[in-house]
Amino acid sequence: METEIIKIRPGEGPVSEEDEEKLRAAGAILQQGGLVAFPTETVYGLGGDALNPSSSQKIYAAKGRPSDNPLIVHIYRFEDIYKITKEVPEEARKIADAFWPGPLTMILPKSDAVPYETTGGLDTVAIRMPSHPAAQKLIKYSGGYIAAPSANTSGKPSPTVAKYVEEDMMGRIDAIIDGGEVGIGLESTIIDLTVTPPQILRPGYITQEKLSTVLGTVDTDTTILRADSGQAPKAPGMKYRHYAPRGELTIVEGTPGQVREYINRAAAADHTAGEKTGIIGTEEMLSGYIADVVKSVGSRKDEDSIARHLYTILREFDDEGVTKIYSEGFSTEGFGQAIMNRLLKAAGHKVVKL
Ligand code: AMP
Ligand code: MG
Repeated sequence: METEIIKIRPGEGPVSEEDEEKLRAAGAILQQGGLVAFPTETVYGLGGDALNPSSSQKIYAAKGRPSDNPLIVHIYRFEDIYKITKEVPEEARKIADAFWPGPLTMILPKSDAVPYETTGGLDTVAIRMPSHPAAQKLIKYSGGYIAAPSANTSGKPSPTVAKYVEEDMMGRIDAIIDGGEVGIGLESTIIDLTVTPPQILRPGYITQEKLSTVLGTVDTDTTILRADSGQAPKAPGMKYRHYAPRGELTIVEGTPGQVREYINRAAAADHTAGEKTGIIGTEEMLSGYIADVVKSVGSRKDEDSIARHLYTILREFDDEGVTKIYSEGFSTEGFGQAIMNRLLKAAGHKVVKL
């Protein structure tokens, strides 16, 4: 299959008339059952018509994703939620008012309009309304419902730039819309509204603190930051090895001095053993590190920048053939919880606590 690359103006500004035509054409591909990757404010998505079972099957095939791992259905206006759900509780309206369009996915009971191919066999459906203007137009022109997981090969870090979508999806899908670098860089928060109190299944930019200002009590799935609590995560996708670079990643936690000393010593020993070593550090710590490749993920004072750079850095280590990677750990407060959740998964929960 030949994959068409469709370039649009980078960023999240209003859609130009020229780009609108391109998005209309891409929407037609989706209506005909094809697959189109596209930018959102979180990461690049791999889209298919959510109401067409064969489109969802094609998504699983293109990603090499296990078919029990459900897809998120993307809509562009609230009223479209009614067709795909059995009931819309008051909580759904409240959090939609507060956080949609934006990086929040809600789980609700599905209607018969949504095929089991899209929900991985579940009777619930995950729904999000992205804020990215090009994503909204694409959803509109596709007929209103795009099933889209992240546009990476299953297990790899999610793509935050089109280059990595091309790397994984060239020849496997119909088109890739290249809209430059995404804004947030981590997948949406997922909240399950089918349970009381509502429960966060995947942390993201919309934190528990923010959600509870609107909903009152909100729980968090206890498996989110733990390696093995003996309990299966409630979002099926969270059980799989995820976001992982090819190199072996270890997280090192302790005081700044301890962390620097441990990482440098471990990297030196690896280097002597013939490994290519890499370090993921914050601006504040960077000058103290020695390895084959040292990369800054951003400032400790700016979690947004850490989130935006994390996946790209993991991919860059792959590009450079790094075989052993060490990373500082980060705070698990607020948005930090989402960052550490992804980093822990990328590391297969390999953590050294000093
Ligand atoms: P991705 O599309 O790669 O961001 O992954 C989507 C995530 O949403 C996966 O971790 C899924 O397990 C989760 N998800 C989607 N639908 C549901 C659902 N109905 N119930 C629970 N989790 C879901
Ligand atoms: Mg994903």
